[in-house]
Amino acid sequence: MPPASPALSASQLARLGALGEEQTARVGDVLYHVGDQSYPFIAIHEGEVAIVDVAGHEIVRHGPSGFLGELNLLTGQTVFVTAVVTKPLRYVAVEREMLRALLFEDGPLSELVLATLVERREALERLDGVGLEIVGPHSSEATMRMLEFVRSNRLPYSWQDALPTGTGGLPLVRLPGGAELRGPSTGQLSRTLGIGRELATREEVDLLVVGGGPAGLGAAVYGASEGLDTLVVESTALGGQAGSSRRIENYLAFPAGITGNGLTGRAVTQAR
Ligand SMILES: Cc1cc2nc3c(=O)[nH]c(=O)nc-3n(C[C@H](O)[C@H](O)[C@H](O)COP(=O)(O)OP(=O)(O)OC[C@H]3O[C@@H](n4cnc5c(N)ncnc54)[C@H](O)[C@@H]3O)c2cc1C
Repeated sequence: MPPASPALSASQLARLGALGEEQTARVGDVLYHVGDQSYPFIAIHEGEVAIVDVAGHEIVRHGPSGFLGELNLLTGQTVFVTAVVTKPLRYVAVEREMLRALLFEDGPLSELVLATLVERREALERLDGVGLEIVGPHSSEATMRMLEFVRSNRLPYSWQDALPTGTGGLPLVRLPGGAELRGPSTGQLSRTLGIGRELATREEVDLLVVGGGPAGLGAAVYGASEGLDTLVVESTALGGQAGSSRRIENYLAFPAGITGNGLTGRAVTQAR
C-alpha cells in the first residue's frame, strides 16, 4: 500500500491556490481515469479521494492538505490509476506547466512533492494490476526486449509468459485504459505513453544531445537554460544507467545517496 500524502502547509496551499483554480466535486466524481493523457496537480482543501486501479481495487486515500498524483504528473506519461471522490471535495487544480514552474522556484515544496511522487511510482511498480500488460512468450526476442524497455523506464507492468490470442506481432501490449498494440517498437510504445514525441523527417535545433543519461540531461538543462532550442534523443530510457540503479552513492550534493528513480525523476523534470 503506498503511503498516504504528506500534508501541505497552509502557506503552500495558499501558493498553489494563487496559481490554480479552486473547484469542488461530489462523492463519486472521477477526477482522472486510467488511460487519460494527462491530469492536473490536485491539492485537497477539504474532503477525500480514493485512488483505485483499473479493476476498481482501492490503493490509497488522500484527505485534507494532501495532494494527488505520481511521477507521470511531471514526466507526462499516460495515467495509471483512477481518482474517485469519496467525501465532498474542495480542491485546487494546478496545470502541469504551472506546477513545474512553481517547483523550480520553491525548493521546500519541490522536495516534498518530488520525493512523494517518486515514492508513489516505486509503490505502483510493486503493485499487481497497475500499468501495462505484456503478453508474449519467454522465447520471443521482441517480448524480452519490450520487458527490458519497460523495466529500464521504471513503468509499472505485468507480464504473461504466453502466446497472445489473435493475430499480429509479438508481444501484445495492453495499455492503461485498454487499447492494445501488437508487436510495437519501443519508440512507438514510448510515444503512445507520452514519454517521447514523433520527430519530423527533418528537425532543426540549436543543440542535439544524443543520450538521456545524467550527462545528456545535464547538457540539455545547460543548453536550454542558455536559450538554445535543445533536443534529446534517447534509445532506451531517460536516466541512463543511473535510472536502473537502486541507490546512487557519492553523487555530488546528495551526501546520503539517492535512489536511481529519485535522481532520474528530478533530472528528467528539470530537463523537460
Ligand atoms: C547498477 C549501477 C549502480 C551505479 N551506482 C553508482 C553510484 O553509486 N554512484 C555513481 O556516481 N555512479 C553510479 N553508477 C554509474 C552511473 O550510473 C553512471 O556513471 C552514469 O549513469 C553515467 O552517465 P552518462 O550520462 O555518462 O551515461 P549513461 O548513464 O550510460 O547514459 C547514456 C545514455 O545514452 C543512451 N544512448 C547510447 N547510445 C545512444 C544512441 N546512439 N542514440 C540514443 N541514445 C543512446 C543510452 O541508452 C543511455 O541512456 C551506477 C551504475 C549502475 C549501472
